[in-house]
Amino acid sequence: MPRELLLQVSPETAANDALLKTHLSKHSGIAEAEIAHVVVLKRSIDARQKAIKINLKLEVYLKDEPFSSQKIQLPDYPNVENAPEVIVIGAGPAGLFAALQLIECGLKPIVIERGKDVRGRRRDLKAINQDGIVNPESNYCFGEGGAGTYSDGKLYTRSKKRGDVDRILKLFVAFGASPDILVEAHPHIGTNKLPKIISDMRETIIEHGGKVLFETRVDDIVVKQNEVQGIVTNTGDVIHANKIILATGHSARDIFEMLDRKKILIEAKPFALGVRAEHPQELIDKIQYSCDYRGEFLPPAPYAVVKQVNGRGMYSFCMCPGGVIAPCATAPGEVVTNGWSPSKRDQATANSGIVVELKPEDFKPFAKFGALAGVEFQRSIEQRAWHLAGETQRAPAQRMVDFSQGKVSANIPKTSYVPGTTSIELGNVFPGFITQILREGFVEFGKSMRGYFTNEAILHAPESRTSSPVRIPRDTQTLEHPQIKGLYPCGEGAGYAGGIVSAAIDGEKCALMIVQALSR
Ligand code: FAD
Repeated sequence: MPRELLLQVSPETAANDALLKTHLSKHSGIAEAEIAHVVVLKRSIDARQKAIKINLKLEVYLKDEPFSSQKIQLPDYPNVENAPEVIVIGAGPAGLFAALQLIECGLKPIVIERGKDVRGRRRDLKAINQDGIVNPESNYCFGEGGAGTYSDGKLYTRSKKRGDVDRILKLFVAFGASPDILVEAHPHIGTNKLPKIISDMRETIIEHGGKVLFETRVDDIVVKQNEVQGIVTNTGDVIHANKIILATGHSARDIFEMLDRKKILIEAKPFALGVRAEHPQELIDKIQYSCDYRGEFLPPAPYAVVKQVNGRGMYSFCMCPGGVIAPCATAPGEVVTNGWSPSKRDQATANSGIVVELKPEDFKPFAKFGALAGVEFQRSIEQRAWHLAGETQRAPAQRMVDFSQGKVSANIPKTSYVPGTTSIELGNVFPGFITQILREGFVEFGKSMRGYFTNEAILHAPESRTSSPVRIPRDTQTLEHPQIKGLYPCGEGAGYAGGIVSAAIDGEKCALMIVQALSR
């Protein structure tokens, strides 16, 4: 029987198999020559002390113990070409994992995606970065793989159900992600690796008899006697099905508007909004690792910070070490920021959303929009940012200390945000209460992370698509919309997920509910 051991080692030892074996032998009393294989089960960084340590959970095989390294395989998907059809709207993580789960259970998904496949999408990302042209159907949020395709691909979630998370991570590995994501405490995939994984998922769906329609926008849902009958596309085509998974993400404002117009219940929900801060990665390394130089054995440091300011939470969100700030608008006439990193996280800067939690009461000035008040609040800030920065995809920007002191920055250095920045007073972008909390909060952040509050940090506005401003209600047991039979609101846009893994878990959950309903 292999034995499991917990070990704390230096970063250098953790990165070198021979050193690790020697250390393990000393620590466990097992003769080095007896150790045949060492498998890392879990790895995390302990940066609480000056000498940074790596915590390892190891599985140790001795010479006479059988050992086989198992490759993680895809499930044995059946062919579903002639099986009952389920419409899945949206090919983000929720939609794709729902489609794969449906196939696994013998149902045929028809995935309908307004955007292009990952390859076609790239051209539109170039256009928004280089020419400031936003294609409202194909951008950083819309297209194959959804909002997560060109992201850092962080795969951690607050989900308490470890089994669900492991299942999603294993599927990612089976589709080509590094098995390291099963081991790391904070796994991520990276923008350079995600598109191939996503397109392999689509190929698998098609190979097994599912359908994937790109550049096809769902404009309406057909409902008869409170039961779904199908959908209407932007070309007027009707596709029939009496089970629909609605996984259109947090930026599909037209879907929220369509539901509201049809008097299908939706609700305003709290979300968060603020800025994206960019620091030199070296500075974040110094703060987080308490050292002058990170060295070759530690990864670029992440950070997570949260404070209560004026009775509200202000916190870092979607932090990207060694990353790039991306223009994430989904319509012309608005500016939206977010961030991504390549798998090596080897860019010179670290960026993070720094956001203030919002409550539906904050959307009062937009009360006439009812359940869409949060959407309009969000939109008004994004449009103001666009207007104030010069009506291109340039982002309004300010140095951090200048912002806290209400002073327009004399200059803004080139940042990772490719469309460029315009130096303005960011207080003009936000309602006063958000500005006030951000101003005070950055000073507080600087107290817990010495060096963080600096004019070397550039704030870009706004970070506004943190989660959905709308919830589409669903029955807690059946996951169907309480008024409309056969409609399954799913993923981040419906308010049931907050990231790639949780959206994927929710997609699988909705698919399984449909399987259950059809087997009754
Ligand atoms: P989405 O991914 O938003 O997918 C919805 C899909 O529906 C889209 O492809 C859209 O085109 C399609 N759609 C919308 N309307 C229609 C319609 N009418 N008809 C047909 N199709 C439609 N999360 C993490 O966990 N880790 C990260 O590192 C991370 N980084 C991110 C970086 C960026 C730049 C962005 C934008 C997001 C990032 N996120 C990250 C968030 C993550 O991407 C989302 O939480 C996740 O993608 C939500 O999944 P979803 O399937 O619910 O929705």
